[in-house]
Amino acid sequence: MTDIKNILTFECFDKVYEKGGAEINALKNVSFSLEPGKSTLITGPSGAGKTTLIYLAGLMKKPSSGEISINEIRTRNLNENERSNLIRNEIGFIFRRSNLIHNLSVLENVMLPQISSNVEKARKLLEKVGISEYKRFPCDLSLEEEQKVTLARSLVNDPSLILADEPTGELDNDAAYSFLNILNRIDNIAILMTSDNDSLNESFNQTYELEESRLI
Ligand code: ADP
Ligand code: MG
Repeated sequence: MTDIKNILTFECFDKVYEKGGAEINALKNVSFSLEPGKSTLITGPSGAGKTTLIYLAGLMKKPSSGEISINEIRTRNLNENERSNLIRNEIGFIFRRSNLIHNLSVLENVMLPQISSNVEKARKLLEKVGISEYKRFPCDLSLEEEQKVTLARSLVNDPSLILADEPTGELDNDAAYSFLNILNRIDNIAILMTSDNDSLNESFNQTYELEESRLI
């Protein structure tokens, strides 16, 4: 782990979608690396390719050409088993809407993806994100609290990378900054986050913009 230079590497990848016989070039010639523990913000308006980028980084979609590496493991030719192990062990996800399971308590939601069940660890993570009443249910949480629980859940298997697709998209400014403060206090995990709001860039080590399907 200590001698890994890049947690996430994109090597000149393209993503082309096909829709009704037409080709949509969602992302073109994207190259990028993210070092351990560093945070990057990718901004761009709706339709810029932010979600596509997160899906590709999270190995949920394959690039049309080029290569994506996680922890310096090239991913194009991984089999299903290798791919899902890499996702489960190395990547935590946060989306725009929290997608917590509504009939499970906050604590149970955080424990759900755990590879080996550990209540104490789940409680500590909830404390870390500022949620002390862990028996509450998602329906009693504000959107900000939901995203904090989702952050705790994303950390539960000690990932080396957090992928967050517009996690502050539903939050007002104060809530967004409160969420980012907590996100920034998490040590030793690389973060790739997207937003349509480029005023959040101060909270990140580096910022890129998606413009005309290219990362600049
Ligand atoms: P963003 O998250 O920045 O709004 P997306 O990654 O969702 O952008 O979309 C980028 C472009 O790719 C858009 O033009 C969108 O319509 C297109 N797109 C996204 N997903 C698909 C898909 N499954 N099939 C066809 N086109 C898609
Ligand atoms: Mg999107």
